[in-house]
Amino acid sequence: MSDNSESGPTPARKPKAAVTMIGNRPLSPATMMMGHGYDPVLSEGSLKAPIFLTSTFAFPSAAEGKRFFEGITGKVPGGTEGLVYSRFNGPNQQILEGRLALWDGAEEALCFSSGMTAICVLFMAFASAGDVIVHSGPLYAASEGFIAKTLSRFGVTYVDFPAGATRDELDVVMAKAKTQAASQGGKVAMVYLESPANPTNALVDVEAVRDARDAAFGPNCPIAIDNTFLGPLWCRPIDQGADIVVYSLTKYIGGHSDLVAGSIAGASKWMTPVRMLRNTMGGIADPNTAWMLMRSLETVELRMTRAGENAAKVCKWLAAHPKVEKLGYLGMIDDPRQQDIFDRHCTGAGSTFSLYVKGGEAEAFRLLDNLKIAKLAVSLGGTETLASLPAAMTHLSVPDARKAQLGITDNLVRVSIGIEDADDLIADFEQALAAV
Ligand SMILES: *Cc1c(COP(=O)(O)O)cnc(C)c1O
Repeated sequence: MSDNSESGPTPARKPKAAVTMIGNRPLSPATMMMGHGYDPVLSEGSLKAPIFLTSTFAFPSAAEGKRFFEGITGKVPGGTEGLVYSRFNGPNQQILEGRLALWDGAEEALCFSSGMTAICVLFMAFASAGDVIVHSGPLYAASEGFIAKTLSRFGVTYVDFPAGATRDELDVVMAKAKTQAASQGGKVAMVYLESPANPTNALVDVEAVRDARDAAFGPNCPIAIDNTFLGPLWCRPIDQGADIVVYSLTKYIGGHSDLVAGSIAGASKWMTPVRMLRNTMGGIADPNTAWMLMRSLETVELRMTRAGENAAKVCKWLAAHPKVEKLGYLGMIDDPRQQDIFDRHCTGAGSTFSLYVKGGEAEAFRLLDNLKIAKLAVSLGGTETLASLPAAMTHLSVPDARKAQLGITDNLVRVSIGIEDADDLIADFEQALAAV
């Protein structure tokens, strides 16, 4: 009966196909987070997956070792059938990836040691010298920096457009990118989006981007989107025509401000080149982090739902406060075009928003320094409420003119609401605003 006997269970290689339907009812991701891709029989009956701390995996036979390597090296398409070496794959990472893919309705997902690793490997998998990347703006500062400062060293250029661009404006952008690529002897390698934009919460019309992409380049130029702010609960960009969904798992999905990780998801044909490059470069999430993320995924819907409800209550209260100039909150959009995008793309307003306090940096500092429950820290999507001042912190290096253009003012306080008691949070903002 032991695992060592010849008739005993074989080691886990691929996540076992789990229950995905009851009758004709497809199960929701929230249900499937508890067991999908893990079979306790393969791990001494342990209800929860163990953490597999190993650098390498023993092959059942030499022939199978060869077959696994054919998958790793791409000699045989479709990825490897077995576990090989921990830079390539591992049980915790495979289970995690199977579960991540469910949220976005993607064929496959890949996990990484950080959101930025995922993003950098993604770009390097698709862009060659002479190519052009079309991207929405603003992006997460490190993403924008990687395109402008690192990829440029390898002969890749970019064309950017403001988040709210219309179809007509997008057609002009795509035409410009096409001309630029032709003049460099390359192609348009990718359309890369981030929505809502940080810190303004401006939304990208993904459907319009898809139509413009189809008209200009056809479907072979993938649309990737950083869905960290509203995903996986409030936005599923594959439904609007995106091909690849990117996450900093550090934020809502990790959700407890205790790990750094990233992922991408999409159709296998888009994931394969990224997986190959990850095999070469490394950057896969480690087994412990993957395990923590599996734990986080069990509560992601609960946490995000509560955080979203809290944010709605806090914003309602803040909007009526005399010391608050305005809010940049997706539950209170004042622009009809942005509202239209929201209605077509989003199922919730999220819990990260901008609070413009009346005054400037001094008043914003007073507010931040007086908050007692909300912690003064960058990042977002954790169980605890965080507040920061982008102009003085995350966006300090952005030139003043670009800051003005993006609406990143000295009085813009960025707030990520957590899962505390909403009335406690309101009491905290009340006393901190009184000190302003
Ligand atoms: C945090 C963040 C990233 C980077 O992710 P890391 O996990 O910190 O590397 C990328 N995009 C967005 C929108 C983010 O908020």
